Amino acid sequence: MSFVNISQQKQVVSFKQAVLSPIGENRGIYFPKHIKKLDKDILSSKDFNAIAIETLYNLTSGELSKERLTGMVKRAFNFPLTVKSLTPKQHVLELFHGPTLAFKDFGARFLAECMTHFNHEKATIVTATSGDTGAAVAHAFHGKPNIDVVILYPKGKISKEQEQLFCTLGDNIHTLKVDGDFDDCQSLVKQAFNDEEVAQTLNLNSANSINVARLVAQVCYYTALPALMNVSNDSPIDRLIVPSGNFGNLTAAMIAKAMGAPINHLIAATNKNDTVPRFFISKQWRPKKTQRTLSNAMDVSQPNNFARILYYYQENLEQLFEDISATSINEIQTRRTIRQYAQQHYPVDPHTAVGLEVTSTLFRDKKSNDLVVATAHPAKFADVLEDVLQEPVKRPQSILDAMNKTSLSIPLANEFDDLKDYLLR
Ligand SMILES: *Cc1c(COP(=O)(O)O)cnc(C)c1O
Repeated sequence: MSFVNISQQKQVVSFKQAVLSPIGENRGIYFPKHIKKLDKDILSSKDFNAIAIETLYNLTSGELSKERLTGMVKRAFNFPLTVKSLTPKQHVLELFHGPTLAFKDFGARFLAECMTHFNHEKATIVTATSGDTGAAVAHAFHGKPNIDVVILYPKGKISKEQEQLFCTLGDNIHTLKVDGDFDDCQSLVKQAFNDEEVAQTLNLNSANSINVARLVAQVCYYTALPALMNVSNDSPIDRLIVPSGNFGNLTAAMIAKAMGAPINHLIAATNKNDTVPRFFISKQWRPKKTQRTLSNAMDVSQPNNFARILYYYQENLEQLFEDISATSINEIQTRRTIRQYAQQHYPVDPHTAVGLEVTSTLFRDKKSNDLVVATAHPAKFADVLEDVLQEPVKRPQSILDAMNKTSLSIPLANEFDDLKDYLLR
């Protein structure tokens, strides 16, 4: 029993339970009950898969055997992971070399491995997406036996590249373009989960971003930092900068630091949706209305994962402010950073630009050894880059291939009865 419900701390469940029912009593989400430090020799290993296996074994308290994890890690993390050094003290952790060109591939692919392992009946995953998550989930579950995936997305409100990446797969992946916005899609999904007939007929599951399988998968690339670059406890990363929206990636970094990864300080970089940066100043939680920005995967004003961070530091809030800081980057700064790095022949996507801004100008500290997390491939947001740079942006082959395929999406009115008919058929 290794995961505790942060809203109802008497409820402690196994990793399997937390994966299959990610929302507990009191609508609470789960967090590892104990975070144990990894052995020094594991942390200094140069083998990414070996560190990932130990990290996952540790966080799930041995519920999955190392033998089992070996196969899961090999299949889930089957794409490159690299650190680029822009200057001797400024590095970028590129997490975007997976099939859908954003870091969400790590979490979604490991979640698919966990669901395939734990779930032996036929199941249907219904999920809503504003872009990146849907693509990652679709690719991760494509071809998995016994699992059908239904993805709802707002028609005309995601980029063509994003849409083609997940709406052309077919087989067990079904995509519905909804006549509405993202909130409408989410509301339709919620109604499906609350409908008894749907729930009884289909073994419904969500690939929700708060699932602990996604969280623990993301810890692995931080505990593996010594394998990816030249850092150790004697010469650590001074500042790890994480572009943040729902704060899952930052929570994973916080867990890795607690497990002994050589990271001194974490900085969350948000866009104009600055609930957390304002919280760090005023100590008050005052979400505002969500604003649309160039870094749209971070347009979140009530980040779900922040509750996990507060839970972890509940007995020592001072330590939170020592370990983590947060800052908000505006659209002018984001555009300037995109231009600056394109000129240096290192094109960056708008999310990564929000993180890079922190090391470039705002809080430049020449002595500090900085690592910025690059969350998406620049070509995934080619339309934004072309608008900012006023020049064509090269697409990788995977996107060009997807652009040539036929979209298999089915139109859906913003009506629950239509979704229900579809699901029951
Ligand atoms: C989801 C996403 C983010 C935000 O990550 P969180 O874990 O939600 O903070 C940042 N960049 C990209 C490209 C994303 O897809």
